[in-house]
Amino acid sequence: MVVTNKTPVTYRDKLPDEVDVVVIGAGIIGISIAYFLGRQGKSVLVCEKGRVAGEQSCRNWGWVRQQGRDSSELPIMKESLQIWKRLSSEIGEDLGFHQGGCLYLADNDHQQHENESWLSVAREHELDTQLLTANETARLLGQEQARWKGALYTPSDGRAEPFIAVPKLARAAKKLGVRIIENCAVRALDISAGKISGVITEQGRVRARQVVSAAGAWSSLLAGYHNIVLPQLRVKNCVARTSRVDGFFSGNAVSDKIAFRRRQDGGYTVALADHMTHHIVPDSFRYLPKFIPLMKKSLKDISLRIDESFFSDYGRRKSWNEEKISPFERNRILDPKPDPELHRKLRQRLSDYVPALAKVTFLESWAGMIETSPDVLPIISKVDNLLGLIIVAGLSGHGFGIGPGIGRVVADMAADRPTGHDLTRFRLSRFHDGSPIIPGPSL
Ligand SMILES: Cc1cc2nc3c(=O)[nH]c(=O)nc-3n(C[C@H](O)[C@H](O)[C@H](O)COP(=O)(O)OP(=O)(O)OC[C@H]3O[C@@H](n4cnc5c(N)ncnc54)[C@H](O)[C@@H]3O)c2cc1C
Repeated sequence: MVVTNKTPVTYRDKLPDEVDVVVIGAGIIGISIAYFLGRQGKSVLVCEKGRVAGEQSCRNWGWVRQQGRDSSELPIMKESLQIWKRLSSEIGEDLGFHQGGCLYLADNDHQQHENESWLSVAREHELDTQLLTANETARLLGQEQARWKGALYTPSDGRAEPFIAVPKLARAAKKLGVRIIENCAVRALDISAGKISGVITEQGRVRARQVVSAAGAWSSLLAGYHNIVLPQLRVKNCVARTSRVDGFFSGNAVSDKIAFRRRQDGGYTVALADHMTHHIVPDSFRYLPKFIPLMKKSLKDISLRIDESFFSDYGRRKSWNEEKISPFERNRILDPKPDPELHRKLRQRLSDYVPALAKVTFLESWAGMIETSPDVLPIISKVDNLLGLIIVAGLSGHGFGIGPGIGRVVADMAADRPTGHDLTRFRLSRFHDGSPIIPGPSL
């Protein structure tokens, strides 16, 4: 179910000469933006170097959560949740959306205290978040004995099925007239007199006065080609899906050791919550000063590794010729290999912490590269001195749930309409104007 290079190409629209907006990247962000622009009647082209939802957007856990977010993200996230709630009926397709709640399980008093400290954010944004006692948590998980100290719980949070939702939303966008082309990398932005005039793709040039870069883990590379410094790093997380389990918790739950959430097919998407790997690349050194606050906060969950990716295309920058194959075409789909020990480790954790899932069969496993900004908050930003470019990146491990909300906001930005949100916190220049870099609550 994870999209790979073997997944057939579905979208082969003809490259137009000119459109109102070019969107680079067909993940949840690019497709949502295109969908909302399509609804406005704009002519839109989505260029995707690989496949729709081939990278992060089909590999994520599928959580649609407000809980645990930075306060600045919550207004858009709350709007996103409302969009998720109506999207299936709006487009006439089941996106696998379900509100089963979100649980942050505490294994000790310190973790429960951290849970409690987020309640003020929840109250500020009028969320239905509660702090559960040990017995309440056990009841929710159907456990006879209290295993956890307690939990933070937001019943209105939910999930959607990444493998299903993004391709179906792409189909809905296409019905609105949006053109989508897979296997069509944007090699560079076309710039004339300091303004965007279009894009240079592997199939030719397209004229457009507005370009949105929603290039996920490739955003820094593309921006860097144009001397725009976009600090971004990647961490790998491994995930598996299980056989069906009836009668167990129907929401999302995570402790510091294990994450699980009920899938639409009755199985669970499970992951080791404390196993993230950063493969060291030249950008690791280039951006190190900006990532130090995040590293200090997250080092216990992130291991560092150096391997062949240090020398691969995505570690390099600025060094290709627009007339020739670019790094984006050399790596159509970022498809890292899952840890060979993943199933064994997951089995152990499930036996130790989630007995109801201890005997599941693992049906599939995969890995995804989470792209992150230094403060783990999104970049939703126009670019100083380059009229016509909007960059959306740095979604940092929680861009799936907020994706439709950001799609609506950025579509309005691209159409020069009011967005209804204060986007100052998400400006790219925060990493360059001397503002302190304070990481949000979670990756
Ligand atoms: C393991 C894992 C678990 C996660 N869990 C959750 C979760 O539970 N909830 C949540 O909200 N978020 C989660 N996330 C994060 C979420 O998946 C991402 O934030 C979100 O998918 C980002 O969407 P995107 O469209 O920005 O990027 P992507 O989905 O990565 O899409 C970017 C696209 O741009 C394309 N592209 C790049 N460069 C070019 C170019 N030059 N030309 C053309 N195309 C280009 C790429 O091929 C790619 O398809 C998780 C991520 C991972 C990896």
